[in-house]
Amino acid sequence: MRRSDGGATFKMSMLPTLRRPMAVVVQKYGGTSVADATRIRNVARRVVNTIRTGNSVVVVVSAMGKSTDELITLARAVSEHEHPREMDMLLTAGERISMALCAMAIEDLDVPAMSLTGSQAGILTTGAHGRAEIVDIRADRVRAGLDEGKAVIVAGFQGVSPTSKDVTTLGRGGSDATAVALAASLEADFCEIYTDVDGVFTADPRVVPSARKLDEVTYEEMLELSAAGAGVLMARSVEFGRRYGIPIHVRSSFHDDPGTWVKEKTMEEAIIRGIAHDTSEAKITVHGVPDRPGVAAALFEPLSEAGVNVDMIVQNVSREGAADISFTVPRAGQDRAREISERVAESFGAAGVDVNPGIAKVSVVGAGMKSESGIAAEMFHVLSKHGINIEMISTSPIRISCVVRAEDVDKAIRTLHEALQPEFEPEEERI
Ligand code: ADP
Ligand code: ASP
Ligand code: MG
Repeated sequence: MRRSDGGATFKMSMLPTLRRPMAVVVQKYGGTSVADATRIRNVARRVVNTIRTGNSVVVVVSAMGKSTDELITLARAVSEHEHPREMDMLLTAGERISMALCAMAIEDLDVPAMSLTGSQAGILTTGAHGRAEIVDIRADRVRAGLDEGKAVIVAGFQGVSPTSKDVTTLGRGGSDATAVALAASLEADFCEIYTDVDGVFTADPRVVPSARKLDEVTYEEMLELSAAGAGVLMARSVEFGRRYGIPIHVRSSFHDDPGTWVKEKTMEEAIIRGIAHDTSEAKITVHGVPDRPGVAAALFEPLSEAGVNVDMIVQNVSREGAADISFTVPRAGQDRAREISERVAESFGAAGVDVNPGIAKVSVVGAGMKSESGIAAEMFHVLSKHGINIEMISTSPIRISCVVRAEDVDKAIRTLHEALQPEFEPEEERI
């Protein structure tokens, strides 16, 4: 569990302050928005328009289309083993391709441009390959580029470890974090995240066609939605936004309509703001461990040391003094988690370990739940009415999450979205 926001801070090494009269705008374009030559030229046009209206623009790009997934598949075809350093070398190439193409397209529109890798842009990170955290931004080259009147294109999702000197990646969706961290470092007024949907919706619009676009959502709620699987913004980017007071504007790269503002306070408050789901986790159960102090620590300490990000934990104690401990982990870490769990189970003479990859998590999120009881009961009622079994439950003051069978997840989100409609209404409009 890495829920503390200890990692949400980084240093911002400053040059002696140069006053720049123009506002700095940071625009991040996701994979779909730079998926082919035409879309890259569209991005270039948007960037150039923003510059021509008197702004300095820093562009953060993702890898084209699904190319990160394709590179991962390619690596797996070449080798069955884990190669964290080489994997990061490979994956950072994706963003490097789009940054160079984007710079070419901008120069073709008669605006000077310069692309920079994460390392060249001064994004310094921890050395944890595949899940590095930004520790410092030394944006001198970015600032120098802007001062020369250039559009500066930065490869998202990557940095360099000052200790190992190796390139690192920030985890899936990490370009969002690059963009918001750069916006903070450059003291931009806000950060624009251009994507393939119109903004943040009340549920994933690809699963719930009746989902509504939100005009505004608080950092607090967005953080819970992102951590619960709403992939439209990486949770860490929201942490940066909140920590450094950078409003985030999530919007479509296909038209100019306003999207969703993620900010400290919203005009309206609803009991429920959104429903998120996550199909990327597996559930592990260790059966029949002794019910005594130290057992949970013996299991979760080595998992944490191995970098396995444990999410939900449920322990059931039976009368015979034995306990079952279930927890969820990202499926990518499932084999490591199984090995560690089996070792710990054996050392306690436990009955065995089960791994179930066929699960999904559904979460209902809203700041209004702090002062409204009964949403959990309503959620459980809706799920039971549709014959959906709840395998695990966890809550925060503004979130209720249930683990269900993977095959039930779409039905769960759609029925919850429909049944909980009144709770989505702004508070003052409700009777
Ligand atoms: P990008 O490549 O632009 O970073 P992502 O695929 O990472 O785009 O994120 C956008 C996707 O997030 C959407 O296509 C949508 O399917 C998904 N998504 C999940 N939950 C939500 C939500 N609540 N609102 C909007 N989009 C969501
Ligand atoms: N290309 C990376 C990914 O697919 C980073 C990103 O798109 O934000 O996860
Ligand atoms: Mg993304």
